[in-house]
Amino acid sequence: SAESIDTIVIIGGGISGLSSAFYLRKMAKEQGRNIHIELVEAESRLGGKINTLHRDGFVIEKGPDSFLSRKLPIIELAHDLGIEQELVPTNKKAAKTYIMKNGKLHEMPKGLTLGIPTSILPFLATELVSGQGKLEALADLLKGPQPKAEDESLGGFLSRRIGNEIVSHIAEPLLAGIYAGDLHKLSLQATFPQFAQYEKEHGSIIMGSRYSRAQLAEQNKGKPPATFMTFKNGLSTMVEALEKELSDISIHTSTKVESLDKQEHGYALKLSNGNSLRADAVIVTTPARAANQLLQPHIKSTMLADMRYVSVANVVLAFDKASFDASFDGSGFLVPRSEGLRITACTWTSNKWLHSAPDDKVLLRCYVGHSEDQESVKLEDEALVAAVREDVEKAIGLQAEPIFSEITRLNHSMPQYAVGHLQAIQSMRIELNEKLPGVWVTGAAFHGVGLPDCIRQGKEAAELMLDFIQT
Ligand code: FAD
Repeated sequence: SAESIDTIVIIGGGISGLSSAFYLRKMAKEQGRNIHIELVEAESRLGGKINTLHRDGFVIEKGPDSFLSRKLPIIELAHDLGIEQELVPTNKKAAKTYIMKNGKLHEMPKGLTLGIPTSILPFLATELVSGQGKLEALADLLKGPQPKAEDESLGGFLSRRIGNEIVSHIAEPLLAGIYAGDLHKLSLQATFPQFAQYEKEHGSIIMGSRYSRAQLAEQNKGKPPATFMTFKNGLSTMVEALEKELSDISIHTSTKVESLDKQEHGYALKLSNGNSLRADAVIVTTPARAANQLLQPHIKSTMLADMRYVSVANVVLAFDKASFDASFDGSGFLVPRSEGLRITACTWTSNKWLHSAPDDKVLLRCYVGHSEDQESVKLEDEALVAAVREDVEKAIGLQAEPIFSEITRLNHSMPQYAVGHLQAIQSMRIELNEKLPGVWVTGAAFHGVGLPDCIRQGKEAAELMLDFIQT
């Protein structure tokens, strides 16, 4: 009978929620189980932060633009969806990345892995770090393990291993860029736990990084694999494929879940359209603030309420190649905070991704805003574009008039994993399991912000909730 079919409701239609739905459906089918899945998304479109714009032959990413290809969950999902032939790596000819120092761009030394120098000679040759700074960085090789039992800040950890100078000139723009965060507030264990592992196992993060790089190359038959990949028509390819695959579940868009109440059996969810849904299990994949609104009435943990988010914006500038008056040969450049510009990075998108622009055009994407600069993102549109153009001119001398610009503002979009983050999640989940069994909360606010991490978390949520409704 219909009553014996369990219902699982997924809140949020970003990549975490879509992956939860996909794997729930897939695993239930494989196990020969009949379940009912509903997905509720506040916005009119699915995808959450993923947002590809197709304009005049350009493929413009307004949210994430690619993913780390060594993280497998996204590659597996692409295969599961039958869209693996759409995957494209970065353009090998645009492999160089630059970092600004004292107003000048310097090529990033070869062999840097996440800011850690794994090839010593190119690192010794770089002008980005002084002689003293190089000695401090290489001292990591001699220090041996000094692991801490507790979590510590990423910045604190890196500074004690490789010194302050390489941290502020290389690691900070590279690593902090991923979170738009402050390295000295971000949790080591929640962001780059492999560094702690390297220290423990190899007594040196340089040796650990070298070892892990060699292993990756070996898996890839000696060739270093492409670091980043995307889909040739944009990341929305994945969202569209998921939507198509999920056409037999109930998806409610433009609908917000407003509250979650415990019933004698399962849960009742009140929706913004006045309806309500009954659920045996619920997977919450919204940003922390919305999750907090739903769960806070039931739990004491303040983990969700305490989570800080940073606002960022990005400005895409499109040019005619013919009038483009700057030359630049890499995939982009990073700007350390100490340089005092408003942009934190600029991707030479049409160099990095050959599919992103027509042959006679150039596409740049500039990033604004980080944890210590929440003012630039508030500039009016015109002032924001002007600020970005001024900074790009300072960096590469570009004066040409863009044919168009696209601004994307992502308010409260970058979760900041504070020191102790993993511990805080653990305690919150223990309490949640006690008070609201069958409610699981996951997504970018928890174990990884990258798209592959969100997919992995969605899959885990599906496994856990399938188990839950069976018992
Ligand atoms: P979201 O995408 O935020 O989805 C949550 C959904 O929940 C939203 O659609 C929201 O509308 C919905 N929602 C909220 N409240 C409710 C409610 N009450 N009821 C119903 N629905 C609700 N990662 C990479 O791997 N590579 C990159 O290049 C990259 N670049 C990035 C650049 C930017 C500017 C940003 C902001 C992030 C970037 N990331 C990148 C990170 C990655 O994009 C995100 O972590 C990921 O997309 C988050 O997915 P999610 O499903 O967890 O959350």
